[in-house]
Amino acid sequence: MKLKELLKITDPYQAKVIAVTKNQPIENIQELINDGQKILAENRPQELIRKSQIINQTLEWHLIGHLQTNKIKLILPYTELIHSVDSSSLMIKINSEAERINKIQKILIQIKLSEEEKKQGYPFELFEAQLSELQLQKLRNINIIGVMGMGSLTDVIATTRKEFRELYNRFYYLKKNYFQNNEFKEISMGMSSDYQIALEEGATMIRIGSLLFE
Ligand SMILES: *Cc1c(COP(=O)(O)O)cnc(C)c1O
Repeated sequence: MKLKELLKITDPYQAKVIAVTKNQPIENIQELINDGQKILAENRPQELIRKSQIINQTLEWHLIGHLQTNKIKLILPYTELIHSVDSSSLMIKINSEAERINKIQKILIQIKLSEEEKKQGYPFELFEAQLSELQLQKLRNINIIGVMGMGSLTDVIATTRKEFRELYNRFYYLKKNYFQNNEFKEISMGMSSDYQIALEEGATMIRIGSLLFE
């Protein structure tokens, strides 16, 4: 699908399209940029750094994949937003590295949505407990601007919808109880296969890879 067609679908919802460029050669990415795309995302730190250096234009790069603590230092100078923060130790380490380079790093909390054991994400109850106990919201060099979630790999629309609705409800619960500020406003959910459901359920960012490069 062309970017223009996708934007026609997303515009009424005022959701941002995050173009996921993983596994794509530079020519394809450049074409998308020429069509006007300004927010790009990678799931691996090294790929993000490599591509942002080659393309070397004013763009927003987002990290959407799992971040290992030993990669924080490398990646921080390049990332506008990290979608995949799923533990308090990661937050604390991102905060200290951001402080060292005098940056305020915007992050999303990746909430675990699926019951599947291997699925990544912060269990919500754990996040909430640590948020109130450790005052994680007071780490000055990270700015938590919302939540991210990955739906189950399933064809059952009702399952995906339920998971996205849960993320939406948790976002508003967090906003009401812990983040009463205008910056806490993003819900990153939905990929090529389920973005329509995500839009209907209140996504503010959808992460689209394969669909844009077909
Ligand atoms: C790859 C990836 C996407 C995009 O997936 P598509 O199905 O290609 O749209 C979105 N989010 C994350 C975390 C990804 O790793």
